[in-house]
Amino acid sequence: MGADTTPPSYEVFAVKYGERDARRPEHFIGGDRHDVPMPMDYFVWAVVGDGRTWVVDTGFSRADGEARGRTCLRTAAEGLALIGIDAATVTDVVLTHLHYDHVGGFDQFPAARFHVQDRELAFATGRHMTRRALRHGFTAEQVGALVVEVYRDRVVFHDGDDVLAPGLSVHLIGGHTAGLQCVRVHTGIGWIVLASDAAHYYDHLRGNRPFTTVVDVGAMLEGHDTVRRLADDPEWAVPGHDPAVLRRYPAAGPGLEGIAVRLDRVPTADPA
Ligand SMILES: [Zn+2]
Repeated sequence: MGADTTPPSYEVFAVKYGERDARRPEHFIGGDRHDVPMPMDYFVWAVVGDGRTWVVDTGFSRADGEARGRTCLRTAAEGLALIGIDAATVTDVVLTHLHYDHVGGFDQFPAARFHVQDRELAFATGRHMTRRALRHGFTAEQVGALVVEVYRDRVVFHDGDDVLAPGLSVHLIGGHTAGLQCVRVHTGIGWIVLASDAAHYYDHLRGNRPFTTVVDVGAMLEGHDTVRRLADDPEWAVPGHDPAVLRRYPAAGPGLEGIAVRLDRVPTADPA
């Protein structure tokens, strides 16, 4: 060990694949006094380095997303191709949770194993799914298909915090769903965190305000602190659905402005 303990530094990407219109009061329990537009972006993420490529979440399927009124700009596989990643050859996908917009594109990754929390698959297949208020973010066929993959040795379970590789770990958050996990990555600037739906927007983190889709409000609010603490700078916790991410980070390459950004960079001040 000794001098050899510095973890590898990864390149980290956010790729936008969808969007929808929404208004600010929809995103906060108790609403918001400012009834103004607050659109939502949909992302997948990629972690590249140390000879491997990890994908975080798989997006919604075009049919499912459009049935729910979301705009599908490109599939996860099409988005990842823009940054040079071939979804067909990706071997490891972290599923932060099993909502339709995070797991729905899993069939675009035929060579992958899927990393999920014990608690998330239990939640998505258990008694809480008899409640419309808790199941609306899940698509039954996708959860069922993932259960089939358990029997094909394509699901890797994690119980709480776990190290996936040097410089890359998952952390159980809960709150939004029972087994929601975030991803911590070591980069050239230090540790950053892909919060996924531990925080939909920067405003949830900064105001410690709960999003409207939730099973445990206390865990959600604790999770805001956790993702900010796991990052070397609180501003390096990257929310899962905030269009500001595309404004704060540099494009991943020429022509990718507004589509794909590099998250292993110091973000600019939030223009919002
Ligand atoms: Zn979600």
